[in-house]
Amino acid sequence: MSAALPAQDAASGGWIVLKFGGTSVSRRHRWDTIGKLAKQRAEATGGRVLVVVSALSGVTNELTAIADGSEDSAARVAALEARHRGFLAELELDADAVLGARLAALRGLLDDPRASSRPLDWQAEVLAQGELLSSTLGAAYLRASGLDFGWMDAREWLQALPPQANQSEWARRLSVNCHWESDAAWRERFAGQPTRMLITQGFIARHEDGGTAVLGRGGSDTSAAYFGALLGASRVEIWTDVPGMFSANPREVPDARLLSRLGYAEAQEITTTGAKVLHPRSIKPCRDSGVPMAILDTERPELPGTVIDRSAATVAGVKAISRRNGVVLVSVEDIGMWQQVGYLADVFALFRKHGLSVDMIGTSQTNVTVSLDPSENLLSQNVLSALAEDLGKIGRVKVIVPCAAITLVGRGIRSLLHRLSEVFSSFVHERVHMISQSSNDLNLTFVIDEADADGLLPQLHAALIDSGAMPVQETEVFGPRWREINGAVRPRPQPWWQLERPRLLQLAQTGTPRYVYHLPTVRERARQLKELAAVDRRYYAIKANPHPAILNALAEEGFGLECVSLAEIRHVFAVVPGIDPARVLFTPSFAPREEYEQALALGVTVTVDNVELLRNWPETFRGRSLWLRIDLGHGDGHHEKVNTGGKEAKFGLSAQRVDEFVQEARGLGVVITGLHAHLGSGVENMGHWRQMCDELAGFARRFGTVATLDIGGGLPIPYAPEDEPFDLEAWAASLAEVRAVHPAFGLVIEPGRFLVAEAGVLLARATQVVEKDGVVRVGLDAGMNALVRPAMYDAWHDIVNLQRIDAPADGQFDVVGPICESSDLFGKRRRLPRDTAAGDVMLVADAGAYGHSMASRYNLRELPPEDVIDGAMA
Ligand SMILES: *Cc1c(COP(=O)(O)O)cnc(C)c1O
Repeated sequence: MSAALPAQDAASGGWIVLKFGGTSVSRRHRWDTIGKLAKQRAEATGGRVLVVVSALSGVTNELTAIADGSEDSAARVAALEARHRGFLAELELDADAVLGARLAALRGLLDDPRASSRPLDWQAEVLAQGELLSSTLGAAYLRASGLDFGWMDAREWLQALPPQANQSEWARRLSVNCHWESDAAWRERFAGQPTRMLITQGFIARHEDGGTAVLGRGGSDTSAAYFGALLGASRVEIWTDVPGMFSANPREVPDARLLSRLGYAEAQEITTTGAKVLHPRSIKPCRDSGVPMAILDTERPELPGTVIDRSAATVAGVKAISRRNGVVLVSVEDIGMWQQVGYLADVFALFRKHGLSVDMIGTSQTNVTVSLDPSENLLSQNVLSALAEDLGKIGRVKVIVPCAAITLVGRGIRSLLHRLSEVFSSFVHERVHMISQSSNDLNLTFVIDEADADGLLPQLHAALIDSGAMPVQETEVFGPRWREINGAVRPRPQPWWQLERPRLLQLAQTGTPRYVYHLPTVRERARQLKELAAVDRRYYAIKANPHPAILNALAEEGFGLECVSLAEIRHVFAVVPGIDPARVLFTPSFAPREEYEQALALGVTVTVDNVELLRNWPETFRGRSLWLRIDLGHGDGHHEKVNTGGKEAKFGLSAQRVDEFVQEARGLGVVITGLHAHLGSGVENMGHWRQMCDELAGFARRFGTVATLDIGGGLPIPYAPEDEPFDLEAWAASLAEVRAVHPAFGLVIEPGRFLVAEAGVLLARATQVVEKDGVVRVGLDAGMNALVRPAMYDAWHDIVNLQRIDAPADGQFDVVGPICESSDLFGKRRRLPRDTAAGDVMLVADAGAYGHSMASRYNLRELPPEDVIDGAMA
């Protein structure tokens, strides 16, 4: 069990506080973990360990029902007793010897004369029983395991603060705060306890009157923090059932990053605005006394968790986003007394009158809008109606419900506003009711309709990373993704160019920029697609990369070739000797008549995509067998410019005009034998192809002559480090399913990118490294003329310094080219070795598709030459 301890712990020899929540104390193997961790901590630090525990999971809820005077309290007590006796049996402990007295005390509380009137001191005693039981059975188990553990009653050590004037009676007993400044005498008395390791209860404390008090929600975390502060502990560890704090709720955003290290202020803000792993109350005692905190996973103690401390690096940027639902907005318009002294006080007096605590406030010339957080308020319909009625005397009242508050937390939010503009453009469709930026410069919250917030967080999280507003490259702050921690990321094989580095460096000697293609990778991708049993024929869309060696390699693998111009067809016949025209597809868009005529003359399969060409050029098509491309009315893809479906796209016959096309074709004796749809490129969504097959099969029945359904290309590849390889197995399964539904049709695919993107790299040489206004740029001798994807599609390509591949990527650069355009930018804020210098050979990865084939001579720069690597280095 590593969970490495910082060096200063080892030296201190003082106390470490470990807190375990309900789920961490409800299973026998978890208690084994607790024992192991405590022992390991004591040995590693040479110090002493205090374990603070919650009640077994679910027990506090039962006790709350009993304290509230539930009718069936006796039955609930009996069930609690059975639960604890059962658990002791699992722990192989004698229930009567260990818990007999405590269970009797629990039963006794029901017979207590106070039980009928349920005064608060009695309720506190009831609520305290859960932790007293769990800590007692835990102490017995740990001792039975041979560990030197002492048990202590937390009430002997935690003293509730005197009641505050504005506190309710309830809060004075059931939601108390405690002293956390200790004197030498307290520490000495505490240290005087005989055992090296101690276990005690979270949640409970001594009331001023000598009775029991409880800490309220998040009480156990807060108890641990109090003890940590009182003891001047070297660390407070909060053990939970998640691996730490994340940049978003991982259930909603699986790509959320672990937050490895935070300062107290940011942690406080994150816990206050959403993260449930740690109660916000628990941070202040540790912050005030400078005690580091750690959040760790009991089930996986080897994970590093989240560390919160004073010396965390201060990195500006968004650290986390959260969403709170059920927020109510109350807006008061046309306030008559606007700008009169005390008008705001009058408005807020009404909120106070209805017992409502206001979260955010926005004001304009004639409007005051406030948000009410459901976790802080009882927002019943009655309360809101009564409030609205009172406010109605001041102005026009509007209650907007239900809303969601989306909060961005991070240091220096103000300085990020320019980057956030890119981010905000991703949800311009949502109506933003209110924006609030905290004066501590730590958070920015916007309030939208709850329905609009669905699905927004993953998008927002990705946009924050893309824009650089969430600086995930700061590895001291940001750890791995949730999916990665949970092993849900498909591994990516080592890229070929790492093994071929010597050969690439040699090729770079012969001149840069240049493209290099790795044929073994092309063949490997081809073989992966050949394994798809549901697919009958495969074509390669040559526009992705028409290099002769690639066309021949794929033709050898049995692929047909898909062309979009007559020049591409001629190229195919020229460089793939003897290729059967039946293996060539022609899928043009708005091509001139001659191209159709010559393609037909060459005997290739021609795809048409509108009625007009049959009508205008009847003689070209009369009596021919053709394929038809249909626009299914929706598209997809990695960028709007590669979305080739829907009203905005020029491709395909509108589904509204299929019947018209059928008429026209019949008149000309044209036979439609295949239907085609290609709706976009870089499609990640599995349902896309299924839906496409279903729809195409529906149209095919209207023709009666269709034998083939061509579902196009569009398979994605993992460009960015957080992208995963396309899930071919899942794809194969979904195609097999549709194939089974439509057995009458042969299935055809025509990918481009998938086959060649990863097989190609662009080699370039660094020309200059220049600092300007805090941004360091490294220039390459390749520009957007050589690889236009970043400029045209905002595409992300990995960029490495091939020369210094073993040096740590400890510098940050914008990578640019030599073209006179602002968009001549390969990557922003890229991590590269700090020493990157002019003359270094740089590599732009995954440039095999739409790289050289889209290159131009803009600025009269030469087209990069192309090399092919086939087979291992000699
Ligand atoms: C470009 C294109 C393809 C290949 O698209 P990829 O995204 O590279 O797989 C397939 N079919 C047609 C008609 C195309 O135009």
